Amino acid sequence: MTHHHAESPLGFSTAAVHAGQDFDPTTGAVVPPIHLSSTYAQDGIGGLRGGYEYGRAANPTRSSLQTQLAAAEGGGHAFSFASGLAAEDALIRAVMRPGQRIVMGDDAYGGSYRLIDRVHGNWGIANTPLDLADADAVAAALDAEDATVLWVETPSNPLMAITDIAALAEIAHSRSALLVVDNTFATPYLQQPLSLGADAVVHSTTKYIGGHSDVVGGAVVLGSDAAADDLAEQVGFQQFAVGAVSGPLDAYLTTRGLKTLGVRMDRHCSNAQAIAEHLVDHPAVERVLYPGLPDHPGHDLAKAQMRGFGGMVSVQLRGGEPAARKVAEGTRLFQLAESLGGIESLMNHPHHMTHASVQGTELAVPENLLRLSVGIEDVADLIEDLDKALAGL
Ligand SMILES: *Cc1c(COP(=O)(O)O)cnc(C)c1O
Repeated sequence: MTHHHAESPLGFSTAAVHAGQDFDPTTGAVVPPIHLSSTYAQDGIGGLRGGYEYGRAANPTRSSLQTQLAAAEGGGHAFSFASGLAAEDALIRAVMRPGQRIVMGDDAYGGSYRLIDRVHGNWGIANTPLDLADADAVAAALDAEDATVLWVETPSNPLMAITDIAALAEIAHSRSALLVVDNTFATPYLQQPLSLGADAVVHSTTKYIGGHSDVVGGAVVLGSDAAADDLAEQVGFQQFAVGAVSGPLDAYLTTRGLKTLGVRMDRHCSNAQAIAEHLVDHPAVERVLYPGLPDHPGHDLAKAQMRGFGGMVSVQLRGGEPAARKVAEGTRLFQLAESLGGIESLMNHPHHMTHASVQGTELAVPENLLRLSVGIEDVADLIEDLDKALAGL
C-alpha cells in the first residue's frame, strides 16, 4: 500500500507529530490505536474497508508510520520493514537484476556491505566500493555498462565522511543510475536527501528515528514524481510478496519515537559538538572525526546540506588498539554496545564490533578508533565519564 502526499507546508516537527496520526474516529483517542489483527472482515467478497485485507499486505498501524515517515523525509511514499537491512534488501531486489552493479562508498556500514557483497553477490549483483569523495572515480565506475545504482551513506559510519549528495545525484542521473542515500546517521531532521536529488532514502529506524534502543526496524522512502510512483510499485510489491514487514507493536514504537526526533536531535547535536571540542585537545587523542569541527574535511559541505552535524563522534587514540580497548571498557555512562541513536550514550569499537565483518576488506576500520553515540544526558556528566576513562591510559 502506498501513500500520496501533496507538498506539505508544515515544518518538520509539526509533520512528525501529526502526519498519519489522526485521532481514532470511533472513540476520539488522540493516539491512534495499535491494530494487532492479522486479518480483516470483508463486506461481501472483495468488500474491503479502507483497503485492509491481510496483515502482511497492510496494517493500519504500519500505514500510520509510513505516512509519518514519508512526510518527515518530504517524500511521497514510505515502506516500513522489520529492520534496516530488510529495507535495503527489498529496495535492491526492487530496482536491480542479476548482471547489474552497485557502486558504493568504501566506508559503508559493514552490514550493508555484507548484504550487498555476500547475499546479493551470490545472486549476480556486483559491487564496486570506492572513495565517494573522488567524483571522477565515481563517474568512471558508473560508466561501466552494468552500473545501475549509486549507494551513498553520509555522514558515513564510522569514519564520518561527508558526501555531496546533490553532486553525486547529477553524476548518477547523467548515467541513468539511481542514487540511494542511507540517511540513518543524519536523520530526516538534519538532512533531506530527496530534496537534494536522491531517488530513494533508506533508514535503519532502529537508530535515531526509534530513538530509544527498544525497537528494530527499517524504511525505504521515495519521492513524489511519476518515476517515484513507479519505484513505489516495485518496492511495495517486494514488501508484500516477501513480507519482511514491521509488526504493529514495532511500528507503534517507531511512530512514537519519530514524533520527538527534532527535539532529541537538537540535544544529540549540541552534546556531540561539546564532546568533540573537548576531546580535540586531549593528549591521549590522535584525531576526532566530527563534521561540526571546523577542520573536518567535510565541515563546509555538512553545513550546506545538513541543518546540524549529528550525534555521532569517532575518536582515534594515540595508544592504538590497546588504548581503544581500555577506554571502551572503562566508561560508566557510555555503555559498551552495538547500535547507536538512542537517548543513552553508547561506545563501540567498530573494528571488533559493528564492522568485524569487513576486517581484512577495503572497508576495514582503524583499530584505534572508537565510535561514540552521544546521548541526551547532561553533557558535563558525559565529559567527566570520558575524561576518567582516558585518564586511565
Ligand atoms: C544499523 C544500520 C543499518 C542496518 O540497520 P538494522 O536496523 O540494524 O538492520 C544500515 N545502515 C546504517 C548506517 C546503520 O547504522
